[in-house]
Amino acid sequence: MNKKTKATKKATPKKSNVFQSPKGMHDIFPADFVYVDKIEKEFKKISAAYGFERIETPIMENIHLFERGAGIASEVVSKQMFVVKTKSEDVLALRPEMTPGVMRAYLQSGASRSQIPGKYFYISPIFRYEQPQAGRFRQFNQAGFEILHSDDSAYDAQIILACYKMLEELKIKGISIKINSIGCKNCRPNYIKKLKNFYKDKTGKICRDCSRRLSENPLRLLDCKEEKCQPFKDSAPQSIDYLCGSCKHHFKSVLEFLDEVSVPYIIDSSLVRGLDYYSKTVFEIFTEDFSSALGGGGRYDYLSETIGGPKMPAVGAAMGVERIATVLKEKNINILVKNHFKVFLIYMGDEAKKKAFKIISDFYDAGIAVKESFSKESLKGQLRVADREKVEHVLILGQREVFEDTIILRNMITGNQENIPIKKIVNEVKKRIR
Ligand code: AMP
Repeated sequence: MNKKTKATKKATPKKSNVFQSPKGMHDIFPADFVYVDKIEKEFKKISAAYGFERIETPIMENIHLFERGAGIASEVVSKQMFVVKTKSEDVLALRPEMTPGVMRAYLQSGASRSQIPGKYFYISPIFRYEQPQAGRFRQFNQAGFEILHSDDSAYDAQIILACYKMLEELKIKGISIKINSIGCKNCRPNYIKKLKNFYKDKTGKICRDCSRRLSENPLRLLDCKEEKCQPFKDSAPQSIDYLCGSCKHHFKSVLEFLDEVSVPYIIDSSLVRGLDYYSKTVFEIFTEDFSSALGGGGRYDYLSETIGGPKMPAVGAAMGVERIATVLKEKNINILVKNHFKVFLIYMGDEAKKKAFKIISDFYDAGIAVKESFSKESLKGQLRVADREKVEHVLILGQREVFEDTIILRNMITGNQENIPIKKIVNEVKKRIR
């Protein structure tokens, strides 16, 4: 084997035998949890301020709940569901969104009998079998709000405001909200008729998907991203021109509430959202320099009836946790990471290690978290970890200290070092922790 062959061989990476995560599904390591935790914290803060309470539903539901709820022709149902066949008759699906499950839970629990609207929030994993790409995964997390049992336009605006505030709290700049009204079952059929009429003589010019949409889900014609369909979208009839009096009034009122709190919005007549259950208000939230939406939602006044419940108007929104985390990272938005470890314990020798084990447990009982590096036996190795952790107080337990029942307490900022009896160390550290 000559030198060249040897070098080439070395450069070719060996295919790993280690199992890989499923396509489009990712692990979240501590470095990314800094962002996820921050998003969850702000989301919970906003939820509490506006009176939303947490809900969680099963990861799987009967497949018909999604088919009837979101609509059999919708993309998430027709193409993106992970279907799970069980031994019983039931066919389950991993949830491609939360709303139908939340509505099902609300109806099933009897909470819907209360006259007070149910205000819920969730932070939950969602599954969609789609082609993975940037910002589009097969498993991701959504943070969302739902307000059930009210058709009040103030709630549409409150949900939009809560999403907006959350992004603002996260210091995300250039937030824009696109909003539209797609009407109700009284006025929408007339609009759909107009839309179909407009597209009727263009079937040869629009893309294949749009030809299908024309018969199955005409509103989605306005959602098409294909270049050749854009000119038609731009000149197509707009839903807000065909709203009935009641929908017109509702939409106007949502916008007035948003004006009241100075939330900026753009009316986008091509915004329709992908699911069958939407009615009246629909919206999506974007930030500068990112083409994909950070969140979206709308009113779904007929969902309850389509899944077997009574008349139950509702409104909701979902934000993509991973997409928000990407913005925070890419925009270098400073997330203040507070190290909750203020104490690091270094030991030397087996006897000291045993004592250290007990001392850490004593600190734990006193509510103080202590970091250690049990697998690094050398002083140098442990010091290196302590340094990386940037803790203020380091405890050092050597053979001499074990013999004398003492421990060294070193302040890493001042360099000050004291020798303290082990039985007093928890209290002494407590006094010094700020
Ligand atoms: P949607 O109801 O489909 O508009 O989803 C609401 C939000 O969830 C979107 O605005 C995204 O932020 C996020 N989202 C939707 N699909 C995905 C996906 N496949 N991967 C990551 N985030 C997603």
